[in-house]
Amino acid sequence: MPDSTVDEIKSKLNVEEVIGGYLQLQRAGRNFKACCPFHNEKTPSFMVSPERQSWHCFGCNEGGDIFTFVMKIEGLEFIEALKLLADKAGVPLQKVNYENKGEKSNLSDIVEASKKFYKECLKIKGGKKAYEYLRGRGLSDEMIQKFELGFAPDSWSLLSDYLKKKGFKEKDILGAGMTVKNEKGRIYDRFRGRIMFPVNTVAAQTVGFSSRIMPGGDESSAKYINTPETLVYNKGRILYGLDKSKIFIRQKDQCMMVEGNVDVIASFQSGVNNVVATSGTALTVDQLRIIKRYTNNIVFSFDMDAAGVKAADRGIWMALEEGMNVSIIRVPDGKDPADCVKNNPQIWVQAAGSPIKIMDFYFESVMAKYDRKDVNGKKKIAQELLVPISKISNNIEQSFYLQKLSGEIGIEEKILVGILNDAKRNQSAARNGNSRKEKAVEMKKIDRQYKLEENLLGFIALNPDAFDEKFTRMGEIFEDEDFLNIYKEIEKCHEQKGVLKKEDLQHIKRKLADKDSYRTGCQNLSFVFDTAVFSVESYLDEEDFDCLQEAERCALNLREIILRKKLKKIEMNIKEAERNKDTKLLEDLSKEQVRLIGEIKTTEF
Ligand SMILES: [Zn+2]
Repeated sequence: MPDSTVDEIKSKLNVEEVIGGYLQLQRAGRNFKACCPFHNEKTPSFMVSPERQSWHCFGCNEGGDIFTFVMKIEGLEFIEALKLLADKAGVPLQKVNYENKGEKSNLSDIVEASKKFYKECLKIKGGKKAYEYLRGRGLSDEMIQKFELGFAPDSWSLLSDYLKKKGFKEKDILGAGMTVKNEKGRIYDRFRGRIMFPVNTVAAQTVGFSSRIMPGGDESSAKYINTPETLVYNKGRILYGLDKSKIFIRQKDQCMMVEGNVDVIASFQSGVNNVVATSGTALTVDQLRIIKRYTNNIVFSFDMDAAGVKAADRGIWMALEEGMNVSIIRVPDGKDPADCVKNNPQIWVQAAGSPIKIMDFYFESVMAKYDRKDVNGKKKIAQELLVPISKISNNIEQSFYLQKLSGEIGIEEKILVGILNDAKRNQSAARNGNSRKEKAVEMKKIDRQYKLEENLLGFIALNPDAFDEKFTRMGEIFEDEDFLNIYKEIEKCHEQKGVLKKEDLQHIKRKLADKDSYRTGCQNLSFVFDTAVFSVESYLDEEDFDCLQEAERCALNLREIILRKKLKKIEMNIKEAERNKDTKLLEDLSKEQVRLIGEIKTTEF
């Protein structure tokens, strides 16, 4: 395991020293806090835990260890961050290189071999239909080859059998994301009956796939499936097509953002080659910063119906906040660039050649919507335009659009500036949460049960010594899949050793790092666990806070929630039995009802 080197580095460096080298850290109880470097904020919501050697931001929900921090802040790949930190820690570089290259290049080899396999499959039997589909969408042979498109046959083991025959180990095939392991431990091919799009790093190394179900295939499975996060595939940092388009992006000093893989390919085919797409995720700040290495000008192309612009809003606003020049293009009669190119490439070329500045677009569409002479119209216009104006990070540009708005609706600029500042204050208050209560609400806009489960796990982690006495056999009260899996891992460790110690939690976290989060999709369970602990740690600063008592309260509340759900179900069954005049069943159900009501009483605190 390369982890030994990682652990060695971790043991020699303190998280607070590494992060403190970049940020001003302030003490906050057992932790440190700072303003987050990864999103804009005035009140600190970035926490660092020396005890767990980890960090978490409640504003942008990012977190991890020293490696993820250095990767993010320096814009490095894992191997580069490893070198940097190994240097700092005085751990010999040779060793680091050797060990990690080993595992990483093994996974890359598996992905590479899978790509070849899929490409071959496109030429035979079932693949022919996939090939026809691609041609039907208007893609040329040249592009199908350039982007190395392929086909995954509808089989549970064809790919893994092939890879195993080539000498790859089952564990590594799983690690590369090419197979899936179900609850019963059965391993099978992840991609079945799908059109395959290899996803490459900037350096043109294939690290994963995105896939589309065959039209007319099994409609019950997801239309798009992607490789999960692996040691080599970091979704939030990869842009589809960038390996091929980066030189053109630099040349044209402009990056075109489209929605899907096929859009990228079709655009290339039409000669518009400064183009990228996110691969199955929403656009991230990391991706924007990668684009910024090549250009500061970004052009979004989205469906031009209202919903399309809305979907783009988040990305557009993030780009504005990153200080980029944002434009959009309107694609005339055509749902997306791919359709457009299929019908008439010239239309796409022309559309791509005439982008509109995003603020001009907003002004135009808002002005068309409301009457600027009417007082209500003025109010609406101001409301809608001040939001994007508030996102502009450049002061001169912001002031320019404020003046423009003031002129258009005949309202003094001073007044608009006042509203703008209020809006900014509200935004940051909502984001950072001034009071703890607000923060808790903002942090996870999810129901009470979720929060209780998260808190309970957090409290368990803060009191490992009490596990034996208080927290065993609690599996049934976790309904959230992620939390349940984390709890099971803790329970397993406790069972094996007979006790649970603080040191064991590090070991558990390491095991959780290999497991995908069911809910967030692109995070692992170690991150979810760490977030839970950080979120309860803030309570510890309060005087007289009794951690164990609080944990028991969470557990009781959760039991009650579950019992009430059961009760509801029984009550529905009773109604059903009444309708059917099933007296025997009715009697049984009524007994059960009485029993549950009694049980619920015992959970009341
Ligand atoms: Zn943040």
